Amino acid sequence: MTHTIGVDIGGSSVEAAVRDFAGEIVGRHTTRLTMDGGPQVTRAAVSALRELGVHDFGAVGIGVPGQVNQGDGAVSLALNLGIGRDPFDLVGSIEAEVHRPVFIENDVRVAALGAWESFSRAGRGVESVAVVSIGTGISAGVVVNGVVLRGARGLAGEIGHVVVAENGPVCGCGQRGCLEAVAAGPAIGRVWPRGDRIEAASALFDAVSDGDAAAETVARRITAHLTTALIWMAATHDPEVIVLAGGVPSVGDVFLRMMREQISQRAATSELAARRLSPEQVVLADPSDPPGPRGAALLAAQSILQERDDLPATTKANNQ
Ligand SMILES: [Zn+2]
Repeated sequence: MTHTIGVDIGGSSVEAAVRDFAGEIVGRHTTRLTMDGGPQVTRAAVSALRELGVHDFGAVGIGVPGQVNQGDGAVSLALNLGIGRDPFDLVGSIEAEVHRPVFIENDVRVAALGAWESFSRAGRGVESVAVVSIGTGISAGVVVNGVVLRGARGLAGEIGHVVVAENGPVCGCGQRGCLEAVAAGPAIGRVWPRGDRIEAASALFDAVSDGDAAAETVARRITAHLTTALIWMAATHDPEVIVLAGGVPSVGDVFLRMMREQISQRAATSELAARRLSPEQVVLADPSDPPGPRGAALLAAQSILQERDDLPATTKANNQ
């Protein structure tokens, strides 16, 4: 069994990693650039993959922030990549360049797969894990026993567009007061306008650390909305761990502390609430083992095994 490569494509960077059969990440490469349409995303992914300098790999896994058609691997509505309603054949275009099978999945689901594997490699194996990603948008991915939950229409985990504030700000999706419209990076930029979206989150939580009362009030409101989202995840999927990933949680400990305080407060008066979600259940993604590229590489490894299992026995024997 050979290595697999995972490529996690975001709106402003591509992270690639090589994973060996035992689950060790043996190489990484990150490229920062702005994505602008399918052909450019293809070039960025292929170039990040080539920068790894690995020739012995069996397949490639890709994570993308958009909708993935599991039938043909086409990507649509990946707005941060410049891919709109018209589906783009990212799998086909990357396969044509690298001449290996390419497998694709939504980025947050891929991150959940990576987080699930990280826990088991750290000797802290969990049956179920949820990743809640808070950056330009908000969404969640759930993995149970190494299997990604997609849902009947591929929309499982799209929590960013649940309305949390009646008559709140208009969201890009057309509704008012979506979770994303009040608590994602751009929303933080609107209520704490300092720099771009991630700088705004980091400026806000830095100001909280410095004891700024106005920042504290704003940050409380945002973390309260996000805590509600974690409670949805706990109530619907009861995961052993919830991992916070994306640009906003990357501001670090002060963000995690505020989230955990909110969870404790809501659990203080209810035994049920306390059992449903505890502060210790919520952690930040490990920056030394990013879940996105690891999960994408694991997706490729799982998909190869799956395809082998699906082959007729005689063909399998010939392939061994
Ligand atoms: Zn929305």
